[in-house]
Amino acid sequence: MPELTLRDLSVQGHRGPRLAPLDIPAEGVERLLPRERVRTEGPALPEISEPQVVRHFVNLSVLNHHIDRAIYPLGSCTMKYNPKLNDEVAQLQGLAAAHPLQPEELSQGAMAVIWELHGWLRAIMGMPAITTHPAAGAQCELTAILMARAYHGERGNPREEVIVPDSAHGTNPSTVNQVGYRVVTVPSGADGCVDIAALRRAVSEKTAALMLTNPNTLGIFERDVGEIARIAHGVGALLYLDGANLNAMVGLASPGAMEFDFAHINLHKTFSTPHGGGGPGGGVLCVREALEPFLPAPVLERAGDLYRWNHDRPRSVGRVHSYYGNFGILVRALCYLKSLGASGLAEVSREAILNANYLKARLRDAYEPSHPGYCMHEFVLSASRQKSRGVRALDLGKRLLDFGMHAPTTYFPLIVEEALMIEPTETETKASLDAFADALLAIDRETVEDPALVRNAPTRTPVRRLDEARAARNPAVTWRDLEAG
Ligand SMILES: *Cc1c(COP(=O)(O)O)cnc(C)c1O
Repeated sequence: MPELTLRDLSVQGHRGPRLAPLDIPAEGVERLLPRERVRTEGPALPEISEPQVVRHFVNLSVLNHHIDRAIYPLGSCTMKYNPKLNDEVAQLQGLAAAHPLQPEELSQGAMAVIWELHGWLRAIMGMPAITTHPAAGAQCELTAILMARAYHGERGNPREEVIVPDSAHGTNPSTVNQVGYRVVTVPSGADGCVDIAALRRAVSEKTAALMLTNPNTLGIFERDVGEIARIAHGVGALLYLDGANLNAMVGLASPGAMEFDFAHINLHKTFSTPHGGGGPGGGVLCVREALEPFLPAPVLERAGDLYRWNHDRPRSVGRVHSYYGNFGILVRALCYLKSLGASGLAEVSREAILNANYLKARLRDAYEPSHPGYCMHEFVLSASRQKSRGVRALDLGKRLLDFGMHAPTTYFPLIVEEALMIEPTETETKASLDAFADALLAIDRETVEDPALVRNAPTRTPVRRLDEARAARNPAVTWRDLEAG
């Protein structure tokens, strides 16, 4: 009989990336280890059957709410359904097993994927230069404001302030602080848009940048974006788009044409990577020509048929991520973009807007909208009426879990009292939207008839109300953590 080697074992038993085979006879492995390190007994692993394992994980997967179970209308997060095809493609061995330290000659396929993705995203954003290194939107913001500091610094004056509207996501002001700029907040007007007169008063030669979210976090398109750009550029400041709400604009409007100097995309929101529970994510930063030299290094380039990473970037803000970003998420995004195509992508945005307006119309009599009229892909309701009955936005969200649905975003944006921010996304059917509206209308009736029921929700979930801060900081993820309590 031929001797069994680890090469045979790794080929027979291994379904993941092929490892480089080792030519070590199996029975000789012990000879590589010091005698006292060789086990005398096997590890104490649980003795369970395959059906037990399958049931364990299937049951575990439905203890929590996720998009594969039902609607997840968490405003600003774009919790759309992600086609499984994207995951399958990202798992193809040629992509999943590519090593970032492979020489460039052996990485041309992976680099071609990134290059092609860059082309799609630059076209969607209407901007010439791009990086796909950052891990998420917040890291794009940090990269962008570091670039703003470098840009102004080269002009001999790094400036002092960054303007952020009061409806902005918390990552905007924290980014500004992180880079060492001072945050200047501008209020929103009665229409939910940036107060232009207040903006005029706030800008000055000290302003390094203005961070604008469009559509803003109230789900309203900033109609005066042209005027806002003129005001920012009039004092030499840069205009940044927090592009977290891009799902309302893909193929319908171009950030480049709105005169943004730089803009981010959250791939895990708009371009179909499953997210929640802290990641993983993918961030894209698109910039105007004048900011291109400051992009994080290395920058992907193409010379003839060959791709290469250009590390020789003396004006770059440096590296923001190990290697080249979260590659698997870039693969998912390209797969999603190519399978929908240009017209399919515009359709996504149209349907996202239609779904949000349908829900808003169904709910506006029971829950007070933050602003009247049509919305983009999301809208904000106030539960102030329900609060007067002793039920808060948080309670409404918890009660929705009893209906098998996830809560909207609550208490954001900060400028709306008892905010419920609803983003149904394009991937919900009319039946699903109706079920969600029916649930929220039923809960509104409960706030009149039995407010204590809503205050004590959820009642039908595996656990009741959690200490959320503790659960996030000290998650119990193994049986040992659970036994430890
Ligand atoms: C999600 C979000 C961010 C932050 O993006 P991450 O990818 O979570 O870091 C910033 N701004 C807005 C408006 C968002 O919704």
